[in-house]
Amino acid sequence: MKIYYDHDADIGFLSGKKVAVLGFGSQGHAHALNLKDSGVDVRVGLRPGSKSWARAEAEGLRVLSVAEAVREADLVMMLLPDETQARVYREEVEPNLKEGGALAFAHGFNIHFGQIRPRKDLDVFMVAPKGPGHLVRSEYQRGSGVPALVAVHQDASGSAFQTALAYAKAIGATRAGVIPTTFKDETETDLFGEQAVLCGGLTRLIAAGFETLTEAGYPPEMAYFEVLHEVKLIVDLIYESGLSGMRYSISNTAEYGDYTRGDQVVPLEETKRRMREVLRQIQTGEFAREWVLENQAGQPVLQANRRRWQAHPIEEVGSRLRAMMPFIKPRISKEEMGG
Ligand code: NDP
Ligand code: MG
Ligand code: MG
Repeated sequence: MKIYYDHDADIGFLSGKKVAVLGFGSQGHAHALNLKDSGVDVRVGLRPGSKSWARAEAEGLRVLSVAEAVREADLVMMLLPDETQARVYREEVEPNLKEGGALAFAHGFNIHFGQIRPRKDLDVFMVAPKGPGHLVRSEYQRGSGVPALVAVHQDASGSAFQTALAYAKAIGATRAGVIPTTFKDETETDLFGEQAVLCGGLTRLIAAGFETLTEAGYPPEMAYFEVLHEVKLIVDLIYESGLSGMRYSISNTAEYGDYTRGDQVVPLEETKRRMREVLRQIQTGEFAREWVLENQAGQPVLQANRRRWQAHPIEEVGSRLRAMMPFIKPRISKEEMGG
């Protein structure tokens, strides 16, 4: 597989072009600020009077309503929540986007599952950083970048891929490496990763570990440190040096326990059987249909689960302990989480 780096990308494909970044959340703030620092002519499109509007202006960016930002733009990057993109696209983007313009995404959901069907005159591509926005920004600022996936859905101009690479370069991604893919593969692997391993899988392992220890009578503070706090230390080692590097750093006792007890907790074949079922629901569009309906109904399942998990005992002990560890600097404040 060819991986693209800085020398493969020509930022000239963006010169003379006006870029509108829609949204100023996790990805939006990072893209807009990195583009600006790379010399790209960028404006941000938002809802007037929103929190994001004030934040973007405070960062020295030009902020307009979505419709106005799109009207000015040659290239529109959609960094709104996935579940609002289809409506905003229909009502505010498509009617204002110039003939022969470009439409970009950081995730393939709406295109792959047919929620957005762009006009044929548009270039449609994706630059999907494989990391949260704060890292896309901080890595760029220290001269590095977060790797990204790039894909082209529609190439009306004949240079959609080069434009995508130029955009990836402007947000710092080609410093780390850009992998070409398709909207289908990005969407399916992204959903699978977050459902099976990163979010769904990991939180259940942590919660089960915490409940097992506290139900056996161990103090919740100790359980918290063992099964949640230390996850970061282990993940940092895996991230830097792989599974073997992590196993090299831990004690032989921990390593022996890992090999011999890990399969008792997460039996590999049985877990893969269940993961294949989760993957099937993604591939058939079953998950996408469910999520679209959930949003049409006002997100009842999402809200109920959010409340239920926010009330989990690990959250109470966790917020108490983290307050006593001043070296932990939360990126998200309690007010921001609405709690
Ligand atoms: P966020 O939820 O962090 O931010 C959404 C932004 O959109 C906010 O600034 C919000 O502002 C604004 N917004 C919401 N509704 C509207 C509206 N109707 N009109 C105008 N602005 C609106 O989104 P993310 O950055 O998490 O996600 C953006 C895209 O990036 C998604 O496609 C996602 O899949 C993708 N992505 C996200 C990653 C991540 O780490 N979060 C990683 C890789 C890709 P306000 O509410 O203040 O109006
Ligand atoms: Mg995702
Ligand atoms: Mg230990």
